[in-house]
Amino acid sequence: VATEPDEPQLAEPHLRAVLASAGLDVEYVRAEGNTLHMRGEDGREIPVVDFAGGYGSLLLGHNHPVITAYAKQLLDAATPVHAQFSLHPEANRLAVALNRIVRRELGDDEPYLAIFANSGAEANEAAVKHAELDRVLRLEAQLEKVGKSFEAAGYAVRGGKATVPDTTWEGAGLTAPRPQDPTEALGVLVDALTRRNAEQAARPPVFLAPEGSFHGKLVGSVQLTHNEAYRAPFKSLAAQARFVPVNRPGAVQRVIDEERASLLGLTVTGGRVEIRRHEAPVICAFILEPIQGEGGIQELTREFAEEIQSACAAIDCPVVVDEIQSGMGRTGTFLASSDIGLRGDYYTLAKSLGGGLVKTSVLLVRESRYRGQFELIHSSTFAKDGFSSLVALKVLDLVEADGGAVYREAGERGARLKDMLHAVHKDYPEVVKDVRGKGLMLGIEFHDQSDAPAPPVQEAARAGLFGYLLAGHLLRGHRIRTFPTASAANTLRFEPSVLLTDAEIQQLDTGLRDICDIVRGNYGRPLSLP
Ligand code: PMP
Repeated sequence: VATEPDEPQLAEPHLRAVLASAGLDVEYVRAEGNTLHMRGEDGREIPVVDFAGGYGSLLLGHNHPVITAYAKQLLDAATPVHAQFSLHPEANRLAVALNRIVRRELGDDEPYLAIFANSGAEANEAAVKHAELDRVLRLEAQLEKVGKSFEAAGYAVRGGKATVPDTTWEGAGLTAPRPQDPTEALGVLVDALTRRNAEQAARPPVFLAPEGSFHGKLVGSVQLTHNEAYRAPFKSLAAQARFVPVNRPGAVQRVIDEERASLLGLTVTGGRVEIRRHEAPVICAFILEPIQGEGGIQELTREFAEEIQSACAAIDCPVVVDEIQSGMGRTGTFLASSDIGLRGDYYTLAKSLGGGLVKTSVLLVRESRYRGQFELIHSSTFAKDGFSSLVALKVLDLVEADGGAVYREAGERGARLKDMLHAVHKDYPEVVKDVRGKGLMLGIEFHDQSDAPAPPVQEAARAGLFGYLLAGHLLRGHRIRTFPTASAANTLRFEPSVLLTDAEIQQLDTGLRDICDIVRGNYGRPLSLP
């Protein structure tokens, strides 16, 4: 569908203008493998190497022939697509296949139950909702336990078997003189503790996430996304997150200690009524990406993962591992987190799960934390549809084929690509700041250009658009498609498919060196060629 010259622009016209400012306003007419074909001015197709990879949804490339053939076959067979509230054996098979892979990789027998959704953000919102349901139920159970402990203390005191000592009275923060009558003293004590517990129980849930996190842009998930520009205007709409400095020893425990809360119950020992502290589940979940995508391709260290895991286990807080961008084999293992020894209570997958063709996502919840009643209060018209589930199953077949050849390819191609990026970094240290990532999830960070001598570059850098200028130049000048990560604008991302060839790596090498020459030469040549 070509744009007519006099057509009104009503589908996000502002974005169109932003794209145009960096020379990124192109139209693609055909896609296959690692190549998108853009429409040239004379109407001819111009091939562009796609390193943006649908931001991670194209591990197998555009229109993978096996997937498209299978999709056609499903459509020709009149496969039921929408049959809500029926048995969905294909969704179950998909859940079983995901379990086989995940449990093999984690070396763990515990099953994961699957809740399906349509997009990445939606899977994370399902995780948030499930974690909150679980938290509320655990809180209720704690309050009930505390209530029982009050009853038991009352029984002991009324039976003359226990009294309320000063330490307990003061420990509850009571300053009025303690009534002489033990039953009366206990009554005042229980009232005070009940009030305090009710206040603690009414605290809103808090989520923890590393700084730089990106978990989506919907009402709930955007509050777990660190980028202020995305998050701040919508603060009042959902539960808040505390962001923890990445890979900083001790940081997780510090934040947990600041946020955690307790409920106070009673216990009777040796004729004394004493206060017993119970953890109140206020911290709803810790959500993280093993390799942050939009945050600028930042890998979490094994030590940081261990710290999160043990600090969360100590307060019975579930760890949600968002593998939406990093998962499905992109980094050389099915889950990028398995490579740093992380074992999640929840996992979310999306993007490449749909094979670049269907929109689907899934939340996996470890059986021991799973709340079956969630299934009756959470659903979507489109989630778990027959077509998407079957396509996703085919995708798993493809990534698992030949003993995991796709994982090995991702690792090998990624290493090749990363070697090239390292070489560029080495040759242009004054332009390139860092190279990061693993497998086919790589990034190159450029030094800040806010004080660049060329006014347009300086202006773009100050507006956070320098990376887009580079992307525009790579597209127009080198037929390469890449973008900065959403929240770290000086980092260009490379997430091509496993079909990446040496020639394509060479093409990117040439483009990057050209950019570096221009930047190092203080912009003697214009950077973008719109
Ligand atoms: N989580 C992560 C780690 C992501 O990278 C993204 C998308 N960039 C999302 C969640 C949101 O996925 P979607 O865009 O499908 O809602």
